[in-house]
Amino acid sequence: MEMFVAGDWVDRAEKIEVRDPFDDAVIDTVPAANSKDVESVLAASVEGSRVARAMTTYERSKVIGRVGDLVEERAQNFAQLIAREGSKTIREARKEVSRCVNTLRSSAEEARRISGETIPFDSFPGGEQRKGYYERMPVGVVLAITPFNDPLNLVAHKLGPAIAAGNAVILKPATVTPLSAIELTRVFQEAGLPPQVLQTITGYGSVIGDPLVSDERVRMISFTGGVEAGKHITALAGIKKIGMELGSNSPVIVWHDADLEWAVETCVSGAFWAAGQNCIGVQRIYIHQDVYTEFRNAFVDRTASYKIGDKLDEATDMGPMITEEEAARVEQWVGKAAESGAAVLTGGGRSGTLVQPTVLEDVPPSVAVHCEEVFGPTVNLYPVSDAAEAIAEANSLNFGLHAGVFTRDVDTAFKIAGGLECGGVMINDSTDYRLDTMPFGGVKNSGLGREGIRFAIEELTEPKVVCWLLRNA
Ligand code: NAP
Repeated sequence: MEMFVAGDWVDRAEKIEVRDPFDDAVIDTVPAANSKDVESVLAASVEGSRVARAMTTYERSKVIGRVGDLVEERAQNFAQLIAREGSKTIREARKEVSRCVNTLRSSAEEARRISGETIPFDSFPGGEQRKGYYERMPVGVVLAITPFNDPLNLVAHKLGPAIAAGNAVILKPATVTPLSAIELTRVFQEAGLPPQVLQTITGYGSVIGDPLVSDERVRMISFTGGVEAGKHITALAGIKKIGMELGSNSPVIVWHDADLEWAVETCVSGAFWAAGQNCIGVQRIYIHQDVYTEFRNAFVDRTASYKIGDKLDEATDMGPMITEEEAARVEQWVGKAAESGAAVLTGGGRSGTLVQPTVLEDVPPSVAVHCEEVFGPTVNLYPVSDAAEAIAEANSLNFGLHAGVFTRDVDTAFKIAGGLECGGVMINDSTDYRLDTMPFGGVKNSGLGREGIRFAIEELTEPKVVCWLLRNA
Protein backbone atom coordinates (compact mmCIF):
# COMPACT_ATOMS: atom_id res chain seq x y z
CA MET A 1 0.00 0.00 0.00
CA GLU A 2 1.05 3.61 -0.50
CA MET A 3 1.09 6.39 2.06
CA PHE A 4 -0.95 9.59 1.70
CA VAL A 5 1.26 12.68 1.76
CA ALA A 6 0.35 16.23 0.76
CA GLY A 7 -2.77 15.10 -1.07
CA ASP A 8 -1.15 12.27 -3.04
CA TRP A 9 -0.76 8.53 -2.67
CA VAL A 10 2.98 7.97 -2.82
CA ASP A 11 5.42 5.09 -2.70
CA ARG A 12 9.14 4.99 -1.90
CA ALA A 13 11.98 2.75 -3.02
CA GLU A 14 12.66 1.80 0.58
CA LYS A 15 9.80 -0.37 1.80
CA ILE A 16 8.71 -2.01 5.03
CA GLU A 17 7.21 -5.50 4.89
CA VAL A 18 3.99 -6.06 6.82
CA ARG A 19 3.87 -9.67 7.98
CA ASP A 20 1.13 -11.86 9.40
CA PRO A 21 2.43 -12.77 12.87
CA PHE A 22 0.79 -16.21 12.70
CA ASP A 23 2.61 -17.61 9.63
CA ASP A 24 5.11 -14.83 8.89
CA ALA A 25 3.69 -14.40 5.36
CA VAL A 26 4.27 -10.98 3.81
CA ILE A 27 0.81 -9.43 3.41
CA ASP A 28 1.89 -6.17 1.85
CA THR A 29 4.55 -3.47 1.98
CA VAL A 30 4.41 0.21 2.94
CA PRO A 31 6.89 2.97 2.15
CA ALA A 32 9.55 3.83 4.71
CA ALA A 33 9.16 7.60 4.79
CA ASN A 34 12.29 9.76 4.76
CA SER A 35 13.10 13.22 6.10
CA LYS A 36 11.85 14.88 2.88
CA ASP A 37 8.49 13.20 3.39
CA VAL A 38 8.38 14.50 6.96
CA GLU A 39 8.90 18.05 5.69
CA SER A 40 6.24 17.54 3.00
CA VAL A 41 3.59 16.42 5.51
CA LEU A 42 4.42 19.23 7.90
CA ALA A 43 4.24 21.89 5.17
CA ALA A 44 0.98 20.48 3.77
CA SER A 45 -0.53 20.20 7.25
CA VAL A 46 -0.41 23.99 7.69
CA GLU A 47 -2.54 24.43 4.59
CA GLY A 48 -4.62 21.46 5.79
CA SER A 49 -5.41 23.21 9.06
CA ARG A 50 -6.67 26.27 7.13
CA VAL A 51 -8.87 24.05 4.97
CA ALA A 52 -10.17 22.10 7.97
CA ARG A 53 -10.98 25.26 9.90
CA ALA A 54 -12.93 26.63 6.94
CA MET A 55 -15.18 23.55 6.69
CA THR A 56 -18.60 24.01 8.20
CA THR A 57 -19.71 21.84 11.09
CA TYR A 58 -22.21 20.25 8.75
CA GLU A 59 -19.52 19.31 6.24
CA ARG A 60 -17.24 17.78 8.87
CA SER A 61 -20.05 15.85 10.46
CA LYS A 62 -21.31 14.58 7.10
CA VAL A 63 -17.89 13.32 5.97
CA ILE A 64 -17.20 11.49 9.24
CA GLY A 65 -20.69 9.96 9.26
CA ARG A 66 -20.17 8.79 5.68
CA VAL A 67 -16.87 7.17 6.70
CA GLY A 68 -18.75 5.30 9.44
CA ASP A 69 -21.26 4.05 6.85
CA LEU A 70 -18.53 2.92 4.44
CA VAL A 71 -16.61 1.10 7.17
CA GLU A 72 -19.83 -0.68 8.13
CA GLU A 73 -20.44 -1.66 4.49
CA ARG A 74 -16.90 -3.06 4.26
CA ALA A 75 -16.84 -4.56 7.73
CA GLN A 76 -15.79 -8.00 6.55
CA ASN A 77 -12.79 -6.60 4.60
CA PHE A 78 -11.66 -4.49 7.54
CA ALA A 79 -12.02 -7.45 9.92
CA GLN A 80 -9.88 -9.62 7.63
CA LEU A 81 -7.23 -6.92 7.42
CA ILE A 82 -7.10 -6.46 11.21
CA ALA A 83 -6.92 -10.21 11.74
CA ARG A 84 -4.15 -10.63 9.19
CA GLU A 85 -1.82 -7.77 10.05
CA GLY A 86 -2.23 -7.98 13.83
CA SER A 87 -2.77 -10.45 16.65
CA LYS A 88 -6.55 -10.53 16.81
CA THR A 89 -8.72 -13.48 15.91
CA ILE A 90 -11.38 -12.88 13.29
CA ARG A 91 -14.04 -12.75 16.05
CA GLU A 92 -12.05 -10.13 17.97
CA ALA A 93 -11.42 -8.21 14.73
CA ARG A 94 -15.14 -8.04 13.89
CA LYS A 95 -15.81 -6.52 17.29
CA GLU A 96 -13.14 -3.89 16.66
CA VAL A 97 -14.76 -2.94 13.34
CA SER A 98 -18.19 -2.48 14.87
CA ARG A 99 -16.67 -0.36 17.64
CA CYS A 100 -14.89 1.71 14.99
CA VAL A 101 -18.25 2.42 13.32
CA ASN A 102 -19.61 3.61 16.69
CA THR A 103 -16.52 5.78 17.24
CA LEU A 104 -16.95 7.45 13.85
CA ARG A 105 -20.71 7.96 14.16
CA SER A 106 -20.29 9.42 17.63
CA SER A 107 -17.62 11.77 16.27
CA ALA A 108 -20.03 12.90 13.55
CA GLU A 109 -22.65 13.61 16.24
CA GLU A 110 -20.24 15.34 18.62
CA ALA A 111 -19.05 17.66 15.84
CA ARG A 112 -22.48 19.31 16.12
CA ARG A 113 -22.23 19.71 19.88
CA ILE A 114 -19.00 21.73 20.04
CA SER A 115 -20.02 25.04 21.55
CA GLY A 116 -19.06 27.72 24.05
CA GLU A 117 -20.83 29.76 26.72
CA THR A 118 -21.60 33.33 27.51
CA ILE A 119 -19.37 34.79 30.22
CA PRO A 120 -20.78 36.89 33.10
CA PHE A 121 -18.18 39.66 32.87
CA ASP A 122 -20.08 41.73 35.43
CA SER A 123 -19.25 39.17 38.17
CA PHE A 124 -16.74 41.64 39.60
CA PRO A 125 -16.57 45.46 39.66
CA GLY A 126 -15.14 46.84 36.46
CA GLY A 127 -16.96 44.45 34.14
CA GLU A 128 -20.35 46.18 34.13
CA GLN A 129 -20.35 47.16 30.47
CA ARG A 130 -18.82 44.00 29.14
CA LYS A 131 -20.59 41.18 27.34
CA GLY A 132 -19.08 38.20 25.68
CA TYR A 133 -18.61 34.55 25.22
CA TYR A 134 -16.06 31.86 24.50
CA GLU A 135 -16.05 29.41 21.66
CA ARG A 136 -13.90 26.34 21.14
CA MET A 137 -11.34 26.61 18.35
CA PRO A 138 -9.39 23.77 16.72
CA VAL A 139 -5.78 23.56 17.87
CA GLY A 140 -4.60 23.41 14.22
CA VAL A 141 -2.30 20.52 13.30
CA VAL A 142 -2.60 17.29 15.31
CA LEU A 143 0.07 14.60 15.15
CA ALA A 144 -1.65 11.28 15.90
CA ILE A 145 0.60 8.33 16.75
CA THR A 146 -1.05 4.94 17.18
CA PRO A 147 -0.07 1.48 18.50
CA PHE A 148 -0.36 -1.96 16.91
CA ASN A 149 -2.92 -3.63 19.11
CA ASP A 150 -6.17 -1.99 17.86
CA PRO A 151 -5.03 -0.96 14.38
CA LEU A 152 -8.42 0.41 13.26
CA ASN A 153 -10.48 1.62 16.22
CA LEU A 154 -7.65 3.43 17.97
CA VAL A 155 -6.93 5.21 14.69
CA ALA A 156 -10.62 6.16 14.47
CA HIS A 157 -10.35 7.51 18.05
CA LYS A 158 -7.70 9.93 16.76
CA LEU A 159 -9.18 10.89 13.38
CA GLY A 160 -12.88 11.14 14.29
CA PRO A 161 -12.61 13.68 17.15
CA ALA A 162 -9.70 15.63 15.62
CA ILE A 163 -11.50 16.16 12.30
CA ALA A 164 -14.84 16.75 14.04
CA ALA A 165 -13.12 19.59 15.92
CA GLY A 166 -11.82 21.19 12.70
CA ASN A 167 -8.17 20.13 12.84
CA ALA A 168 -5.75 18.79 10.24
CA VAL A 169 -4.19 15.46 11.16
CA ILE A 170 -0.85 13.83 10.45
CA LEU A 171 -1.30 10.14 11.26
CA LYS A 172 1.67 7.89 12.00
CA PRO A 173 0.36 4.34 12.51
CA ALA A 174 2.35 1.53 14.12
CA THR A 175 4.90 0.11 11.70
CA VAL A 176 3.86 -3.50 12.28
CA THR A 177 0.15 -2.81 11.60
CA PRO A 178 -0.22 0.16 9.23
CA LEU A 179 -2.67 -1.37 6.72
CA SER A 180 -6.00 -0.80 8.49
CA ALA A 181 -4.99 2.84 9.08
CA ILE A 182 -4.17 3.33 5.40
CA GLU A 183 -7.49 1.77 4.35
CA LEU A 184 -9.31 4.08 6.75
CA THR A 185 -7.44 7.05 5.27
CA ARG A 186 -8.62 5.93 1.82
CA VAL A 187 -12.23 5.82 3.05
CA PHE A 188 -11.92 9.38 4.41
CA GLN A 189 -10.82 10.52 0.93
CA GLU A 190 -13.66 8.61 -0.69
CA ALA A 191 -16.14 10.21 1.72
CA GLY A 192 -15.07 13.67 0.51
CA LEU A 193 -12.54 14.89 3.10
CA PRO A 194 -10.35 17.57 1.48
CA PRO A 195 -7.01 15.84 0.82
CA GLN A 196 -4.83 18.18 2.89
CA VAL A 197 -6.86 17.62 6.07
CA LEU A 198 -5.60 14.10 6.71
CA GLN A 199 -2.16 12.73 5.81
CA THR A 200 -0.90 9.29 6.72
CA ILE A 201 2.84 8.76 6.84
CA THR A 202 4.38 5.32 7.28
CA GLY A 203 7.83 4.70 8.66
CA TYR A 204 9.74 3.84 11.77
CA GLY A 205 8.96 5.97 14.82
CA SER A 206 12.65 5.89 15.65
CA VAL A 207 13.44 7.57 12.29
CA ILE A 208 10.56 9.94 11.53
CA GLY A 209 9.27 10.40 15.10
CA ASP A 210 11.62 13.07 16.43
CA PRO A 211 11.32 15.59 13.57
CA LEU A 212 7.53 15.28 13.63
CA VAL A 213 7.21 15.48 17.42
CA SER A 214 9.54 18.46 17.86
CA ASP A 215 8.17 20.57 14.99
CA GLU A 216 6.45 23.79 16.02
CA ARG A 217 3.84 23.53 13.28
CA VAL A 218 2.35 20.59 15.18
CA ARG A 219 0.10 22.04 17.89
CA MET A 220 -0.96 18.83 19.60
CA ILE A 221 0.46 15.33 19.84
CA SER A 222 -2.15 12.67 20.48
CA PHE A 223 -0.16 9.56 21.35
CA THR A 224 -1.31 6.04 22.19
CA GLY A 225 1.44 3.57 22.97
CA GLY A 226 3.94 2.47 25.56
CA VAL A 227 5.33 4.45 28.49
CA GLU A 228 8.88 4.46 27.13
CA ALA A 229 7.96 6.09 23.80
CA GLY A 230 5.53 8.35 25.68
CA LYS A 231 8.28 9.67 27.92
CA HIS A 232 10.60 10.25 24.96
CA ILE A 233 7.92 12.15 23.05
CA THR A 234 6.93 14.24 26.08
CA ALA A 235 10.54 15.25 26.68
CA LEU A 236 10.99 16.33 23.07
CA ALA A 237 7.66 17.97 22.28
CA GLY A 238 8.28 21.54 23.42
CA ILE A 239 5.36 23.91 23.83
CA LYS A 240 2.36 22.08 22.43
CA LYS A 241 -0.57 20.13 23.82
CA ILE A 242 0.02 16.49 24.62
CA GLY A 243 -2.42 13.64 25.03
CA MET A 244 -0.90 10.39 26.31
CA GLU A 245 -2.82 7.10 26.32
CA LEU A 246 -0.27 4.73 27.78
CA GLY A 247 -0.02 1.24 29.18
CA SER A 248 -1.06 -0.34 32.46
CA ASN A 249 -0.95 -3.42 34.66
CA SER A 250 -4.60 -3.69 35.54
CA PRO A 251 -5.84 -5.15 38.84
CA VAL A 252 -9.11 -6.95 39.52
CA ILE A 253 -10.47 -7.61 43.02
CA VAL A 254 -12.77 -10.63 43.49
CA TRP A 255 -14.70 -10.52 46.77
CA HIS A 256 -16.04 -13.54 48.72
CA ASP A 257 -19.64 -12.69 47.80
CA ALA A 258 -18.97 -12.39 44.04
CA ASP A 259 -20.65 -14.38 41.29
CA LEU A 260 -17.55 -16.52 40.77
CA GLU A 261 -18.67 -18.22 37.59
CA TRP A 262 -19.17 -14.86 35.89
CA ALA A 263 -15.95 -13.45 37.38
CA VAL A 264 -13.95 -16.38 36.00
CA GLU A 265 -15.50 -16.16 32.55
CA THR A 266 -15.02 -12.43 32.11
CA CYS A 267 -11.55 -12.30 33.71
CA VAL A 268 -10.26 -15.09 31.45
CA SER A 269 -11.52 -13.14 28.45
CA GLY A 270 -10.05 -9.91 29.87
CA ALA A 271 -6.66 -11.50 30.44
CA PHE A 272 -6.29 -13.17 27.06
CA TRP A 273 -8.12 -10.83 24.65
CA ALA A 274 -5.79 -10.09 21.72
CA ALA A 275 -3.27 -12.47 23.33
CA GLY A 276 -3.08 -10.13 26.31
CA GLN A 277 -1.92 -7.24 24.11
CA ASN A 278 -4.55 -4.93 25.46
CA CYS A 279 -3.95 -1.75 27.46
CA ILE A 280 -6.87 -2.62 29.78
CA GLY A 281 -6.12 -6.36 29.92
CA VAL A 282 -6.34 -8.12 33.29
CA GLN A 283 -2.86 -8.73 34.74
CA ARG A 284 -3.28 -9.08 38.53
CA ILE A 285 -6.28 -10.69 40.26
CA TYR A 286 -6.65 -10.24 44.03
CA ILE A 287 -9.09 -12.84 45.36
CA HIS A 288 -10.60 -12.95 48.83
CA GLN A 289 -8.94 -15.82 50.68
CA ASP A 290 -12.31 -17.52 51.44
CA VAL A 291 -12.92 -18.18 47.72
CA TYR A 292 -9.33 -18.25 46.49
CA THR A 293 -9.08 -22.00 45.83
CA GLU A 294 -12.48 -22.24 44.18
CA PHE A 295 -11.75 -19.25 41.91
CA ARG A 296 -8.24 -20.43 41.09
CA ASN A 297 -9.31 -23.94 40.08
CA ALA A 298 -12.14 -22.70 37.87
CA PHE A 299 -9.89 -20.00 36.35
CA VAL A 300 -7.16 -22.49 35.48
CA ASP A 301 -9.66 -24.95 33.96
CA ARG A 302 -11.22 -22.27 31.78
CA THR A 303 -7.81 -20.98 30.68
CA ALA A 304 -6.60 -24.48 29.82
CA SER A 305 -9.65 -24.94 27.57
CA TYR A 306 -8.65 -21.97 25.37
CA LYS A 307 -8.03 -22.84 21.74
CA ILE A 308 -5.02 -20.99 20.38
CA GLY A 309 -3.77 -20.81 16.80
CA ASP A 310 -5.02 -19.66 13.41
CA LYS A 311 -6.62 -16.24 13.75
CA LEU A 312 -8.88 -16.74 10.75
CA ASP A 313 -10.43 -19.90 12.18
CA GLU A 314 -13.80 -19.05 13.78
CA ALA A 315 -13.12 -21.53 16.61
CA THR A 316 -9.84 -19.91 17.72
CA ASP A 317 -10.01 -18.12 21.08
CA MET A 318 -6.54 -16.57 21.05
CA GLY A 319 -4.04 -15.78 18.31
CA PRO A 320 -0.30 -15.12 18.27
CA MET A 321 1.67 -12.27 19.78
CA ILE A 322 2.64 -9.52 17.40
CA THR A 323 6.27 -10.63 16.86
CA GLU A 324 8.46 -13.53 17.89
CA GLU A 325 10.63 -11.10 19.83
CA GLU A 326 7.66 -10.04 21.95
CA ALA A 327 6.61 -13.67 22.46
CA ALA A 328 10.15 -14.56 23.57
CA ARG A 329 10.13 -11.63 26.01
CA VAL A 330 6.93 -12.87 27.65
CA GLU A 331 8.28 -16.43 27.81
CA GLN A 332 11.42 -15.10 29.46
CA TRP A 333 9.46 -12.99 31.99
CA VAL A 334 7.41 -16.07 32.94
CA GLY A 335 10.61 -18.13 33.23
CA LYS A 336 12.18 -15.51 35.49
CA ALA A 337 9.07 -15.46 37.69
CA ALA A 338 9.16 -19.26 37.98
CA GLU A 339 12.88 -19.18 38.87
CA SER A 340 12.04 -16.66 41.57
CA GLY A 341 9.41 -18.90 43.16
CA ALA A 342 6.19 -18.37 41.19
CA ALA A 343 4.07 -21.42 40.40
CA VAL A 344 2.95 -21.84 36.78
CA LEU A 345 -0.60 -23.21 37.13
CA THR A 346 -1.17 -23.60 33.40
CA GLY A 347 0.62 -22.49 30.23
CA GLY A 348 4.15 -21.14 30.28
CA GLY A 349 5.11 -22.57 26.89
CA ARG A 350 5.67 -20.97 23.51
CA SER A 351 5.89 -21.99 19.88
CA GLY A 352 7.09 -19.14 17.64
CA THR A 353 4.68 -16.25 18.16
CA LEU A 354 2.10 -18.44 19.94
CA VAL A 355 2.37 -18.10 23.72
CA GLN A 356 0.18 -20.36 25.82
CA PRO A 357 -2.32 -18.55 28.03
CA THR A 358 -0.53 -18.62 31.35
CA VAL A 359 -1.72 -18.40 34.97
CA LEU A 360 0.74 -17.81 37.82
CA GLU A 361 0.49 -17.72 41.61
CA ASP A 362 2.96 -17.01 44.44
CA VAL A 363 4.46 -14.31 42.23
CA PRO A 364 7.14 -12.30 44.07
CA PRO A 365 6.57 -8.53 43.88
CA SER A 366 10.03 -7.92 42.42
CA VAL A 367 9.53 -9.77 39.13
CA ALA A 368 8.51 -8.12 35.86
CA VAL A 369 5.23 -10.05 35.43
CA HIS A 370 4.12 -8.47 38.69
CA CYS A 371 5.40 -4.91 38.47
CA GLU A 372 5.73 -4.13 34.73
CA GLU A 373 3.11 -4.09 31.98
CA VAL A 374 3.41 -7.63 30.57
CA PHE A 375 1.33 -6.95 27.42
CA GLY A 376 1.06 -10.67 26.78
CA PRO A 377 -1.16 -13.62 27.75
CA THR A 378 -0.21 -14.10 31.38
CA VAL A 379 -2.11 -13.32 34.57
CA ASN A 380 -1.23 -13.54 38.28
CA LEU A 381 -3.51 -14.68 41.12
CA TYR A 382 -3.07 -13.49 44.73
CA PRO A 383 -5.12 -14.18 47.90
CA VAL A 384 -6.09 -11.16 50.04
CA SER A 385 -7.80 -10.99 53.41
CA ASP A 386 -9.44 -7.57 53.64
CA ALA A 387 -10.47 -4.59 51.54
CA ALA A 388 -7.65 -2.34 52.76
CA GLU A 389 -5.08 -4.90 51.65
CA ALA A 390 -6.78 -5.39 48.27
CA ILE A 391 -6.89 -1.62 47.63
CA ALA A 392 -3.26 -1.12 48.71
CA GLU A 393 -2.06 -3.97 46.48
CA ALA A 394 -4.11 -2.76 43.51
CA ASN A 395 -2.67 0.76 43.91
CA SER A 396 0.90 -0.36 44.57
CA LEU A 397 2.24 0.18 41.04
CA ASN A 398 2.90 3.31 39.04
CA PHE A 399 0.01 2.62 36.63
CA GLY A 400 -3.70 3.41 36.80
CA LEU A 401 -5.88 2.87 33.74
CA HIS A 402 -8.73 0.51 34.70
CA ALA A 403 -9.52 -1.67 37.72
CA GLY A 404 -12.28 -4.25 38.27
CA VAL A 405 -14.23 -5.26 41.37
CA PHE A 406 -16.52 -8.29 41.71
CA THR A 407 -18.94 -8.19 44.65
CA ARG A 408 -22.67 -8.41 45.32
CA ASP A 409 -22.40 -5.94 48.20
CA VAL A 410 -23.00 -2.27 47.37
CA ASP A 411 -21.02 -0.96 50.35
CA THR A 412 -18.00 -3.08 49.44
CA ALA A 413 -18.21 -1.92 45.83
CA PHE A 414 -18.34 1.76 46.83
CA LYS A 415 -15.58 1.38 49.38
CA ILE A 416 -13.17 -0.36 47.03
CA ALA A 417 -14.04 1.80 44.00
CA GLY A 418 -13.48 4.91 46.10
CA GLY A 419 -10.01 3.78 47.13
CA LEU A 420 -8.69 2.75 43.72
CA GLU A 421 -6.31 5.09 41.89
CA CYS A 422 -7.19 4.78 38.21
CA GLY A 423 -9.14 6.26 35.31
CA GLY A 424 -12.06 3.79 35.50
CA VAL A 425 -13.47 1.14 37.84
CA MET A 426 -15.63 -1.64 36.42
CA ILE A 427 -17.94 -3.15 39.03
CA ASN A 428 -18.83 -6.78 38.32
CA ASP A 429 -16.77 -6.77 35.16
CA SER A 430 -13.15 -7.24 34.25
CA THR A 431 -10.94 -4.26 33.46
CA ASP A 432 -11.41 -5.03 29.78
CA TYR A 433 -14.54 -2.96 29.25
CA ARG A 434 -14.65 0.32 27.40
CA LEU A 435 -17.55 2.19 25.90
CA ASP A 436 -16.05 4.31 23.13
CA THR A 437 -17.91 7.44 24.24
CA MET A 438 -17.00 7.34 27.94
CA PRO A 439 -14.02 9.33 29.30
CA PHE A 440 -11.08 7.00 28.86
CA GLY A 441 -7.55 7.47 30.11
CA GLY A 442 -5.23 6.88 32.99
CA VAL A 443 -3.51 8.33 36.02
CA LYS A 444 0.18 7.98 37.00
CA ASN A 445 2.23 6.45 34.17
CA SER A 446 -0.93 5.32 32.37
CA GLY A 447 -1.48 8.67 30.76
CA LEU A 448 -2.37 12.30 30.49
CA GLY A 449 -5.78 13.57 29.37
CA ARG A 450 -8.82 11.64 28.21
CA GLU A 451 -10.21 10.21 24.99
CA GLY A 452 -13.82 9.14 24.34
CA ILE A 453 -15.02 11.47 21.55
CA ARG A 454 -16.46 14.41 23.51
CA PHE A 455 -13.61 14.29 26.01
CA ALA A 456 -11.05 14.02 23.22
CA ILE A 457 -12.64 17.02 21.50
CA GLU A 458 -12.12 19.07 24.69
CA GLU A 459 -8.42 18.27 24.46
CA LEU A 460 -8.27 18.93 20.71
CA THR A 461 -9.74 22.42 20.96
CA GLU A 462 -8.85 25.63 22.78
CA PRO A 463 -11.29 28.19 24.16
CA LYS A 464 -11.22 31.62 22.54
CA VAL A 465 -12.84 34.47 24.46
CA VAL A 466 -14.64 37.31 22.68
CA CYS A 467 -15.31 40.22 25.01
CA TRP A 468 -17.24 43.38 24.00
CA LEU A 469 -16.88 46.60 25.85
CA LEU A 470 -20.24 48.36 25.30
CA ARG A 471 -19.08 51.92 25.66
CA ASN A 472 -22.45 53.61 25.09
CA ALA A 473 -24.76 51.11 26.79
P1 NAP B 1 4.96 1.72 21.15
O1 NAP B 1 6.11 0.85 20.84
O2 NAP B 1 5.09 2.74 22.20
O3 NAP B 1 4.54 2.39 19.76
C1 NAP B 1 3.39 3.17 19.65
C2 NAP B 1 3.55 4.10 18.46
O4 NAP B 1 4.58 5.04 18.77
C3 NAP B 1 3.97 3.42 17.17
O5 NAP B 1 3.36 4.06 16.08
C4 NAP B 1 5.46 3.67 17.15
O6 NAP B 1 6.05 3.65 15.87
C5 NAP B 1 5.50 5.07 17.71
N1 NAP B 1 6.79 5.49 18.22
C6 NAP B 1 7.71 4.74 18.85
N2 NAP B 1 8.78 5.51 19.18
C7 NAP B 1 8.51 6.76 18.74
C8 NAP B 1 9.20 8.00 18.76
N3 NAP B 1 10.41 8.11 19.31
N4 NAP B 1 8.63 9.07 18.22
C9 NAP B 1 7.41 8.98 17.65
N5 NAP B 1 6.72 7.83 17.58
C10 NAP B 1 7.24 6.74 18.13
O7 NAP B 1 3.68 0.86 21.54
P2 NAP B 1 3.10 -0.44 20.85
O8 NAP B 1 3.98 -1.59 21.14
O9 NAP B 1 2.70 -0.17 19.43
O10 NAP B 1 1.73 -0.58 21.67
C11 NAP B 1 1.66 -1.15 22.91
C12 NAP B 1 1.56 -0.12 24.01
O11 NAP B 1 0.49 0.76 23.77
C13 NAP B 1 1.26 -0.78 25.34
O12 NAP B 1 2.03 -0.18 26.34
C14 NAP B 1 -0.21 -0.47 25.54
O13 NAP B 1 -0.64 -0.51 26.88
C15 NAP B 1 -0.32 0.87 24.94
N6 NAP B 1 -1.70 1.16 24.60
C16 NAP B 1 -2.39 2.10 25.33
C17 NAP B 1 -3.73 2.35 25.04
C18 NAP B 1 -4.52 3.38 25.80
O14 NAP B 1 -5.53 3.80 25.27
N7 NAP B 1 -4.12 3.77 26.98
C19 NAP B 1 -4.35 1.64 24.01
C20 NAP B 1 -3.62 0.70 23.31
C21 NAP B 1 -2.30 0.46 23.60
P3 NAP B 1 6.78 2.32 15.33
O15 NAP B 1 5.71 1.30 15.25
O16 NAP B 1 7.31 2.76 14.04
O17 NAP B 1 7.83 1.98 16.33
